[in-house]
Amino acid sequence: MTTGIPDAGQRWRCSGCGNLTRFDVTRTRRTTEFWHFDLGGEPRVEETEVREESIKTVTCRWCGRSDAIELVPRHHAVDPAEPTGTLDTGAGLTGRP
Ligand SMILES: [Zn+2]
Repeated sequence: MTTGIPDAGQRWRCSGCGNLTRFDVTRTRRTTEFWHFDLGGEPRVEETEVREESIKTVTCRWCGRSDAIELVPRHHAVDPAEPTGTLDTGAGLTGRP
């Protein structure tokens, strides 16, 4: 299973153990770099532009699984312990005849 790169509203979550924060990422990047050599010939990369990027595997640091990583919305993941059923959208609790 290939996992996508999380965008600004997403993050990774390991559905095997619940890990949200630590992953080993193997990825391929094609970049254009600005190499600046000093007078001694020592190069330094001063700018990197990513032309293409693809994720090969994302592995959970905790349980080692790479087949259980999923993209989840960030606001869901931040507070996983929040009890369900307190939402205002819980129709059915009050609307019954
Ligand atoms: Zn895990």
